[in-house]
Amino acid sequence: MDALSHLRSWLFPQYCKLCSQSLPMGAQLCQHCCATFSTFSEPDLLVRADIQRLFPLRYVDHLVALQWYRPPVSTWLKQYKYAHQLHYQVAVSQLLQQHLYTLSRADNWQWPDSIVPIPLAHSRLVWRGFNQCVLLWQQAVPQGLFVANALARPLSTKQQAKLGARSRRKNLANAFTVRMRVQGMHIAIVDDVMTTGATVDSAARKLKEAGAKEVSAWVVCLTAK
Ligand SMILES: [Zn+2]
Repeated sequence: MDALSHLRSWLFPQYCKLCSQSLPMGAQLCQHCCATFSTFSEPDLLVRADIQRLFPLRYVDHLVALQWYRPPVSTWLKQYKYAHQLHYQVAVSQLLQQHLYTLSRADNWQWPDSIVPIPLAHSRLVWRGFNQCVLLWQQAVPQGLFVANALARPLSTKQQAKLGARSRRKNLANAFTVRMRVQGMHIAIVDDVMTTGATVDSAARKLKEAGAKEVSAWVVCLTAK
């Protein structure tokens, strides 16, 4: 550690959000807590019958998630999204990075050609000021794979949280446009929380129509409604 970093960590000490051990600048979780955090172990959750039943995805080939939507990650996501507490974003990104590293050691793992975030509707982007999903994943995936503006959302779709599963699909039928060349590629769509899967499935459909060979969905948490 150089003298300036030393001084900074003395002035502004950081502690692991899970075990309170002191940390080097920039980290929010210690290596031990990151490595032992309980996550889904499957590199593709669509092999699980319960997950297939809960999330009927027609255009998504593989599903990766950190865990179910529950504390502490659910609390951290809320603090980050609605109260702009960026240190919680760093904690979640650290967990995602560790999770992807673990999954990538499985024999059948393949990194996608590109990783693209679900865009927010324009009205919500203005209201919230940022797309939470971009920072969360950008800091967790290998450099060079992330393409921030590959998908666009030209129509102002009604807020998904207020709609039932069927209305969600209808609402989303033409919500996305693809703005990059995806012919023959494996694309991973990233999002924060998957509730019915309708949003991600709609984006996956557009990617397939644009020629993508394979589409994965990577989300932080799954929540069943
Ligand atoms: Zn810790």
